Amino acid sequence: MRVVRSATAKRVALRADPTRAQVCLVIPKRFSERKAWLFAEDNRAWIKRVLSGMEKPVPFVHGAVIPVFGKPRTLHIIPHDARTTKITLSDDRLEVRTNREDPSSNIKDFFYALLRETIDPMWKGHCATLKKSVYQVSIRDTRGRWGSCVPAGKLMFCWRLVFAPMDVVDYVVAHECAHLVQMNHSDKFWKLCDELSIDMAGSRQWLNDNGDKLMMFGLRR
Ligand SMILES: [Zn+2]
Repeated sequence: MRVVRSATAKRVALRADPTRAQVCLVIPKRFSERKAWLFAEDNRAWIKRVLSGMEKPVPFVHGAVIPVFGKPRTLHIIPHDARTTKITLSDDRLEVRTNREDPSSNIKDFFYALLRETIDPMWKGHCATLKKSVYQVSIRDTRGRWGSCVPAGKLMFCWRLVFAPMDVVDYVVAHECAHLVQMNHSDKFWKLCDELSIDMAGSRQWLNDNGDKLMMFGLRR
């Protein structure tokens, strides 16, 4: 359980955090830690029930099945003497040759780069269509949002989109690019977003249904 000391909380509370597959114990600034743990103890049944309803973490370990752009790949971690970790993606596997005990951060870096090179032609295409320019595109580790846009020309995307089907990635990129023109969620915005996307409605539904699951890949227990 994650413990959060809060300056603003009025009372001790338990909060479900499905994006981390955890329950969080929120303790007000001056509240006793011992009493907070007793409170958690009293609510053991609730915690168990909430956790059992959540998606489970899928750490980057040998044998894990990770979808890359929606297609399942089995993670093969192969011990190797070379100093640099080498990662290759094929049709059915992600092969990691490494001398590190836990190459999770290398795998994460690999996915950052893969997402970046995949979305590059997408946003460039939309910018050409919309006659807008973008001067910065960043990939980040965000929770609760798949992308963001500063209309002056900055786009941000969550690295975990790398696990989503390509149409969904396409939709998120189109969504943020449409914000270069419409910085709102008006009817005009959604119409433009729909024009730019391969499948806007299906992708929004998919994210609603599977968003929490995307948060589980690479998460450690
Ligand atoms: Zn939006």
